[in-house]
Amino acid sequence: MNKRKNLYTIVMILLAISFVFVISSPAFAYKLFTKGFFGQDVPINTVEVHSTYLTPVNNAINNWNFHHSIGAIPRKIIVGGAFKNRFITDYFATDWPGLYGIVKQDQAYYPHTTTEFVILLNRTHLDSQSATVRQSVAAHEFGHSFGLDDITSGIAIMNINRNRSSIYTAQQDDINGVKASWNR
Ligand SMILES: [Zn+2]
Repeated sequence: MNKRKNLYTIVMILLAISFVFVISSPAFAYKLFTKGFFGQDVPINTVEVHSTYLTPVNNAINNWNFHHSIGAIPRKIIVGGAFKNRFITDYFATDWPGLYGIVKQDQAYYPHTTTEFVILLNRTHLDSQSATVRQSVAAHEFGHSFGLDDITSGIAIMNINRNRSSIYTAQQDDINGVKASWNR
């Protein structure tokens, strides 16, 4: 009888520990918003990308598209000179590295309401940075086009406080976020 009572106590303690662990850890390391691009694919015009940024930008696109090719995310990026969505690298005065700017929105496509956007990479900030950091910023901005918002912690491309030299591709939480974004 004593043995059984001890076992019961141990099980209850383990249950209590696991319960505390579950409620104290964040459920999702991603955050969704309603400003993602509405279409089946994400078309982007890269003619305004400076030659020294083409490789990092293409690496960012290829990595997202790899996850699409293996069925991990339901959307992909397509590149062409005639698309309205523009990817621009230029010198801007302020110190932000990159920006996802909404040009047009249509609430009919809720929860993916953006019908035209622009991605800016700020050369004032990034010309002195490595190709890896440039790729990290490009990959982050595409994450917004897939419906992901900024977060402030975690191992994720959408974490604005990430180390851009070591996190420069979509991470598991980002992939989970894109899936959740399109399952809404
Ligand atoms: Zn952001």
